[in-house]
Amino acid sequence: MERMTFDADVIVAGSGPGGATLARELARAGRRVLLLERGADQRGRFYYGTYLGALLYTDRASLLFTKEGLNIVRPLLVGGATSMFCGCAAPPPPWLKIRYGVDIDAETAEAAAELEVAPLPEPLRGTASTRIAQAALDLGYPWEPQAKFMRPARARRAFDCGARCMLGCRCGAKWSAAEYVDDAAAAGATLLTRARVDRVVREDGRCVGVEGRRGGRAFVARAETVVLAAGGIGTPRILQASGFDEAGVGMTMDTTVMVYGFGKDPGIGREPPMTWSWENEAEGYMLSTLADPWLMYPLIAVRKGLGPALRWAQWRRLLGVMIKLKDNVSGGVFPSGAISKPMVGDDAERMRRAEEVCRAILVKAGADPSTLYVTPQRGTHPSGTVRIGTMVDANLRTEVPGLYVCDASVFPEALGRPTVLTIIGLAKRLAKHLITRTTEGMNAIPHAVASARLSQGGPL
Ligand SMILES: Cc1cc2nc3c(=O)[nH]c(=O)nc-3n(C[C@H](O)[C@H](O)[C@H](O)COP(=O)(O)OP(=O)(O)OC[C@H]3O[C@@H](n4cnc5c(N)ncnc54)[C@H](O)[C@@H]3O)c2cc1C
Repeated sequence: MERMTFDADVIVAGSGPGGATLARELARAGRRVLLLERGADQRGRFYYGTYLGALLYTDRASLLFTKEGLNIVRPLLVGGATSMFCGCAAPPPPWLKIRYGVDIDAETAEAAAELEVAPLPEPLRGTASTRIAQAALDLGYPWEPQAKFMRPARARRAFDCGARCMLGCRCGAKWSAAEYVDDAAAAGATLLTRARVDRVVREDGRCVGVEGRRGGRAFVARAETVVLAAGGIGTPRILQASGFDEAGVGMTMDTTVMVYGFGKDPGIGREPPMTWSWENEAEGYMLSTLADPWLMYPLIAVRKGLGPALRWAQWRRLLGVMIKLKDNVSGGVFPSGAISKPMVGDDAERMRRAEEVCRAILVKAGADPSTLYVTPQRGTHPSGTVRIGTMVDANLRTEVPGLYVCDASVFPEALGRPTVLTIIGLAKRLAKHLITRTTEGMNAIPHAVASARLSQGGPL
């Protein structure tokens, strides 16, 4: 069968927050953008936002594990992982600018204003979640209401966001990158769904396009600029298949556990996820209120033992605090398909100290100490597989002219906090760079962009 062929000014592979933002900004600037997304647009399907949906549109029906047993939920659909995210927003970590010279304060402030990022109004933060936060405050930990990509006023029906919000938003209050994909398409970008990019095409030492498959048929797409935005697992795989041996060597994950306990009063499962949180920057972890959705709970708890699994019957009284650890770079995504993320250095010790803090908070919030347990580790932010300073420069450019990377894989260190606003900021900055670029080979952001950024206001 003959190969399908496409051509464009810019090819973007992947429609998560990195790819969707870039496609939107470039299309609005008049570039001919081809956005290639491996998954489908699942919005509007009857199963969107249900347990069935979560099985259908995640890699290996959500049964993707690292060698060490970390469970990774890897959504593969238009909008990427934001289709199933908790809607939390955090500014980029200060060290990104200080240590790596990546200043995206203006871009993230612009996105936060555009998307009206803010904590949920007080009455929607949840009674049990607020009780947990109050317990933490009483113990001296400065928890704060968590900023969200959620606007309850947008809800198409009653805002009834609970833990199920992580299966996909059904009420419409939560933003996802699929909306930026819509904006890109409205501005003239071409979106091809079920189009999986396999490798980049190089000619005379520069990148000239990509090859892949769509609906069982091979395609080749050509453009003078290619941006890989297939996520922390997808992007290194494309690079490995294209001869970049360093891709995927080492990764960050924000390794996550939940500390659970059961009290007498209604718990947090029916409340919006992560309405309160605290980042302990000195120790390198983040804590937030969170519980697994009802049907997921036993699947996770059973890996811990029969006792925790049998408590499923008491799910309505579940209290939970999530720990996200800013983990050290280790393991990686390998060409064999395997993923590895061992705890190294001081990871385990910092996680243990965070667990102690969570236990104290939960008991203070009313959990019975005899019911406390820590879930198995999971990998929520696969990232850092094509790191700034290792495989891409501060402008996200690879060593091959014309080839850029713009997603969580470029994080030079684990963020240890919500990733999406940082990724949007990186994409907005790269879009400016590509729009204003006059000559290939420029290594710095053009002066005009830097000045514009300075005049756009301070950090978030
Ligand atoms: C359950 C859950 C809750 C989360 N909660 C939050 C939160 O509250 N706040 C926050 O900031 N972050 C959260 N995150 C993390 C955040 O969603 C991700 O870190 C972020 O979406 C990563 O963006 P990305 O652009 O790097 O990649 P992704 O969002 O993973 O998007 C990559 C896209 O590329 C596509 N793709 C993959 N391979 C190919 C290929 N070969 N060809 C073409 N397309 C391809 C995929 O289908 C996908 O659509 C959460 C994640 C999960 C799983």
